[in-house]
Amino acid sequence: MHGSRIFMLSLFFISIAIAFSSKGIIVESPAYFKALFVYWFFSSLYHHLRIISKNGSTSMDYGINYSLSIGIFTGPLGLFLFEGIYRFTVYFNKKLTKTADPDEFVHTFYNIGSFVLSNSIAFYLFNFLYPLFQPVPFGFWIIMLILITVTSLLSDAFLITIFTLLGDIKTKREAIDFIKTRSILDMGKIAFTNGLLLLFLQEGKWEMLISLFVLNYLVSRSFLSKSQMLQNKIERDKFEQMAYTDFLTGVYNRAYMDKKMTELNRTDEYIGIIVADIDKFKRINDSYNHAVGDQAIRHFANTLKSYLSKEDYLFRSGGEEFTIFLRNRNYSESVLLAEKIRKGIEISTFEAEFKEENISLSYTASFGLFFYKVNEQLSIEKAYVYADQLLLQSKDLGKNRLSSSDAFSNKETVLAEV
Ligand code: GH3
Ligand code: MG
Ligand code: MG
Repeated sequence: MHGSRIFMLSLFFISIAIAFSSKGIIVESPAYFKALFVYWFFSSLYHHLRIISKNGSTSMDYGINYSLSIGIFTGPLGLFLFEGIYRFTVYFNKKLTKTADPDEFVHTFYNIGSFVLSNSIAFYLFNFLYPLFQPVPFGFWIIMLILITVTSLLSDAFLITIFTLLGDIKTKREAIDFIKTRSILDMGKIAFTNGLLLLFLQEGKWEMLISLFVLNYLVSRSFLSKSQMLQNKIERDKFEQMAYTDFLTGVYNRAYMDKKMTELNRTDEYIGIIVADIDKFKRINDSYNHAVGDQAIRHFANTLKSYLSKEDYLFRSGGEEFTIFLRNRNYSESVLLAEKIRKGIEISTFEAEFKEENISLSYTASFGLFFYKVNEQLSIEKAYVYADQLLLQSKDLGKNRLSSSDAFSNKETVLAEV
């Protein structure tokens, strides 16, 4: 038999020895059976919650362990019976729903052993510490926090032993990292829940006890559905972002441009639509290669972006053609900016690798700018066509220039460096 299995089963046998050498169940039978039933019922219910929260290959554990309070209330033997009944309920439930691990049977004995052992130690520790801490303010709660720390460390020690025997943990570092995965918040949650449950048990406040179990269940359940909703939203947002992003340049793509146009059509904004296209781009592709061409496109996108403000939009509307929606600017400001960009492109260079050498290249671009106020008569889609025609005009006139038109004054200008 494998070492890890021997270890798991020995924990179980030690827990039997502890349970049967203890003073027996230290509370009256009716109280014990009531507690046993309520704890069994709610622990099993929590287990159901745990199965629901299975998400892909990772299962999120939203359950709270209640062994500490029932262990302190009834003593090691009472705890042993509870763990035995509860863990085998889970075992048979898993078998029935076919969610059991191949080693489920041994794991069940391990769980019983590990929880009885650590919480029996907590039981004796509680009885030792209680008189000492009684005069201290919040003494009871301090004890609870100490006990949770002790039981958590013990159960970590058991698990680390098993993982070491299985070869999954090899170094001290890995063992420490394993302990670090335990959440302080979870430990606090377990300490306070078990503390309250214990107080209710000791005072026979059954309705309060059950209410706390129900509250715990509802809080965990609603938190779980909220976090799943949030997770879904994050995934949806990521998906949407991917669907609207151009992979080469990281700017918005054509699909996003179409979406934005529909949105902007419902406004009455002043918009300067610029269509910008690299001149003789084919030459870059042909003289060098596509990778160099891609580098030029990336450089073009970044340069355009560097001139824009947060409210403006930049889209890659075609291969080496980009569209800009300038906002919150008047016509002459838009013309000045477009002209500044054109000059900026003209004087800048970009680096690329060609035949294992770094080369520095420059290029020019042509621009078309159509400025107008969005209205029902002229959709932004139509205005975009006008801007594109102005770009063609720039190309026809010899490239590396800006052709612009203001819808209000019918002003048309062609700017070019001479
Ligand atoms: P013009 O000066 O009139 O704009 O001519 P041009 O050569 O720049 O433009 P044209 O539209 O005739 O050619 C564009 C080329 O861009 C054609 C296509 O092979 C190339 N292209 C399109 N998308 C990409 C891309 O993502 N990467 C690269 N490297 N090339 C692309
Ligand atoms: Mg071109
Ligand atoms: Mg083109």
